[in-house]
Amino acid sequence: MTTAMSKPASSTHPQRGELAVHAKGVTKHYGKGDNKVLALRGVDLEIAYGELMMLVGPSGCGKTTLISVIAGILDRDEGELSVFGNDYAKQGQRIKTLWRGANIGFVFQQFNLLPTLTAAENAAVPLMILGESRASAVKKAKDMMSRVGLESKFNSLPSQLSGGQQQRVAIARALVHQPKLIVCDEPTSALDATTGHAVLRLLKGVALQEDRALVIVTHDSRIFGFADRVATMDDGKIVTIGKPSEVMQ
Ligand code: ADP
Repeated sequence: MTTAMSKPASSTHPQRGELAVHAKGVTKHYGKGDNKVLALRGVDLEIAYGELMMLVGPSGCGKTTLISVIAGILDRDEGELSVFGNDYAKQGQRIKTLWRGANIGFVFQQFNLLPTLTAAENAAVPLMILGESRASAVKKAKDMMSRVGLESKFNSLPSQLSGGQQQRVAIARALVHQPKLIVCDEPTSALDATTGHAVLRLLKGVALQEDRALVIVTHDSRIFGFADRVATMDDGKIVTIGKPSEVMQ
């Protein structure tokens, strides 16, 4: 039987250039009354399969809110949103959580590593949540950690790692279950230029597999060149979208 977790996004294999994310008129507010903040004021965004989209803009313009809505962590107020053909608004909480766990990988600004687990166990968590055995999950996590240059840190606790190493564990954890959509909030903020480029090459390699898409929120202009397109946000809306060379002018 096909479960909600393992079900493909559509019955036919997606083709490069098809839409992975479709958002139209998406709004989101926080708070009530005098404290109400309109964080998203009608976002239109389309991301293709295999595309690496970067999201830039001043602090407070809504970038984290937008990726949280796209990732199904926050519910939108209004508008259309389809992620690999899936509409979170039509899912119950349990199914949404399962779908998200199987299909989405996150790299948060705070790395959210569990302090009592080793680095490899942390990176294995998404697979264990999906029901994979501990041994198999940790083996795959170690493979992914090796790809981000952490082969000597499998058994380290997060407290024994530098900020940059913790960030790479978080990236390995986001990729280990081969999610269709990878959502990253400032993934290179704690990395030096060389490591940042290595991580972007890895992320881009994943995105290039045709049924994956990647959204990266960043302030780091050193990595803009890795994007297929860069969307600039201001005051809860996307104001420009184009190739990195156009945005960097
Ligand atoms: P960015 O990621 O671009 O810095 P955010 O999406 O974090 O922007 O925030 C957009 C707006 O929503 C800001 O005005 C911010 O203060 C507000 N905001 C974000 N999260 C919350 C929250 N949990 N409660 C209330 N306001 C929030």
